[in-house]
Amino acid sequence: MTTWGLIGASTIAAEHMTAAFRANGGTVASVLSSDAGRARSYADAHGIARGVTSLDDMLADPDLDAVYISTTNEKHFGQAMAAIAAGKHVLCEKPLATRIDDALTMVAAARKAGVVFATNHHLRNAGSHIAIRDAIAAGTIGRVLSIRVHHAVMLPEHLRGWRLTSPDAGGGVIADIVVHDADTVRFHLGEDPVDVVAMACESGLGQGVEDSCMSVWQMPSGVMVQTHESFTHQYAETGFQVYGTEGAILARNVMTQRPVGEIEIVTSAGRAPLPFADHGLYTHAVALFEQAIAGTGRPGADGVDGIKSLAVAEAVAQAASSGRRIAVDYRGV
Ligand code: NDP
Repeated sequence: MTTWGLIGASTIAAEHMTAAFRANGGTVASVLSSDAGRARSYADAHGIARGVTSLDDMLADPDLDAVYISTTNEKHFGQAMAAIAAGKHVLCEKPLATRIDDALTMVAAARKAGVVFATNHHLRNAGSHIAIRDAIAAGTIGRVLSIRVHHAVMLPEHLRGWRLTSPDAGGGVIADIVVHDADTVRFHLGEDPVDVVAMACESGLGQGVEDSCMSVWQMPSGVMVQTHESFTHQYAETGFQVYGTEGAILARNVMTQRPVGEIEIVTSAGRAPLPFADHGLYTHAVALFEQAIAGTGRPGADGVDGIKSLAVAEAVAQAASSGRRIAVDYRGV
């Protein structure tokens, strides 16, 4: 079973990932923080043997099989490159990097080194989204015409730090949530957005970075996608709606970290609930990562998926700042 090192004493590792590694039989051997006291207290609080401040020390541990990178976004690149050079498998948080060229370099380096590299896009691991994708693929609603993604939330108070203030750390709702929506739409349709238009603004929490965004994406098949992401919407529900020639899939409260929500299929036959599995999203993601390490599968979202979601977010950001329609540049990936 996999022995993990946590690169970053983060909220997501504390709230979701450490439990997901353990649920899959893994051990969390060490945690890296930039602050020695924090490394120690985080290790103690979460039952982790070592709290360290040196990445080289962590990576020198021969028992370490894999690292999970969940520092702020500008640190992912250097830390991933070091881990890959040390021969460790890498599960990296989204966005993979603050610059797409760095993401390309990371993924190419992992491929060359023969290590597993995955992007922690959780939504495609949800039973709800797997059920929606399967219903689309089965032709339940005919040919897909359009998708609406409702992903406006209120950012919890304990996360109101770098996301709202720091472009350098990769703050802003586009880097934070548009990447997830891009991955989810790609997962459902099996195709990549061609070009986008967008508007973004500061709507109450952002300080120098956008905290709300709306965009429209054109897919190669002609499907149109409309998305709404925000950090400032206390009373909004999340949702994912797929409209086809023969029906609709209406999902409520499924753009979330938990295995919750409701899905309804609407066709000429009437309305019916669509059942779905309620496994933990992150536990499922780690299970797929473990299978990839064992050579018996592939990660839920791999490095290329992480590059593509970042490319869509980059296009949305450019469209919002320029007011122009922007072609998504996947850099040949
Ligand atoms: P946090 O702000 O909790 O953690 C980021 C860094 O901030 C940590 O590495 C830590 O630095 C520092 N930090 C955290 N808490 C404190 C504190 N109380 N005092 C001082 N420093 C602190 O970020 P998140 O966990 O929200 O996000 C981390 C990464 O995970 C991002 O890349 C984000 O995009 C991604 N993410 C992904 C999600 C998903 O579902 N896939 C969900 C949430 C986040 P140090 O390590 O140096 O101690």
